[in-house]
Amino acid sequence: MSDALMNTYARADLAFERGEGSYLIATDGRRFLDFTAGIAVTSCGHAHPHLVKALQEQAAKLWHTSNLFRIPEGERLAERLVAHSFADKAFFCNSGVEAFEAAAKLARRWQHVAGNPKRWKIITVTGSFHGRSMAAISAAGNPKYLEGFGPPAPGYRTVAFRNTNELRAAIDDETAALLVEPIQGEGGIRQAELDYLRELRRICEEFGLLLIFDEIQCGMGRTGKLFAYEWADTPPDIMMLAKGIGGGFPMGAVLANAKAASGFTPGVHGTTFGGNPLAMAVGNAVLDVILAEGFLDNVQAVAGHLRKRLEAIVAANPGQLEELRGAGLMLGLKAVRPNGELIGALREAGLLTVGAAENVVRLLPPLTLSRAEADEACDIIERTCAEAARSAAE
Ligand SMILES: *Cc1c(COP(=O)(O)O)cnc(C)c1O
Repeated sequence: MSDALMNTYARADLAFERGEGSYLIATDGRRFLDFTAGIAVTSCGHAHPHLVKALQEQAAKLWHTSNLFRIPEGERLAERLVAHSFADKAFFCNSGVEAFEAAAKLARRWQHVAGNPKRWKIITVTGSFHGRSMAAISAAGNPKYLEGFGPPAPGYRTVAFRNTNELRAAIDDETAALLVEPIQGEGGIRQAELDYLRELRRICEEFGLLLIFDEIQCGMGRTGKLFAYEWADTPPDIMMLAKGIGGGFPMGAVLANAKAASGFTPGVHGTTFGGNPLAMAVGNAVLDVILAEGFLDNVQAVAGHLRKRLEAIVAANPGQLEELRGAGLMLGLKAVRPNGELIGALREAGLLTVGAAENVVRLLPPLTLSRAEADEACDIIERTCAEAARSAAE
């Protein structure tokens, strides 16, 4: 591996030449079933013809103009996201952490404009992940990511996940908003109960707070509905999106209802690249795929099949797997031995997966996954667990 790269990742010694749907083909010719999807990013699989065409056509016309001018493809994408969500307005950026920054600023700014300038603090929960900026690591409060970077940015307070008593007790007259992932990704595929999400909504009404959902990982069809909040019928005021929204093209978005969105007026927030014509062309193409008749029904059907098989595998392998977590195509296997061992063994057997906290192995296939591909992955997991059990017994 090149010494010219900063030492920020513990990469596998593996590089890919191309992708085909749910598969990645390595530079040495090996073929892998990709249950990482670039960490929940390549939602439509690799080299989806509709996305390739949209990118190539836009690339030949116009890449970038800046937000000094109107961007018709962005107006169209905003209108479509608004039409299919709780939101009235959208703001486009380039990544998840930028969506976090915009959402946090919007919540503070709305309280300011609404006559509550003292309300600027945001309450978050343990196990969260919102990105790697100073503010985002401060918000999530994970000591592992904060160490060595000086004092955390002020204005964030973390309370225990799923504990509404502790949450209520933490609210004071400086609190602006609550920020939660409906399903924690990096935190170990920890799913918030639907009643917990509904209770968060009630608490926000009671105390005059804004509810922010981080659907960067669990949104854009990953749970089998376009957005995870739909399962609880509990719309937030502000929602962060990224990862799957661009299908592999770097982009993010913040959606907000009219009330919260009124916090932003010209000059208050902005980005040079956000919402540029290339990203917007791809974003619209991703939505074409996900919103196509029957697509999300198929995600639910394949996910249901995958879950059933995985449940059986977990039950049959208590020495290797502790439990199955998650929803839709955002699943986690809690490993008994260190999760890195299982990830490595699965990779050797042709299945790519990704780790998470709490010793979890994340399964994040593309949303275009077929039933046969789900079976292929399960066969690999089954074989790998059997081999691990055999070698443990020796
Ligand atoms: C990945 C992720 C982020 C950060 O996104 P980046 O594009 O890496 O900045 C934030 N929140 C959640 C829930 C994520 O999964």
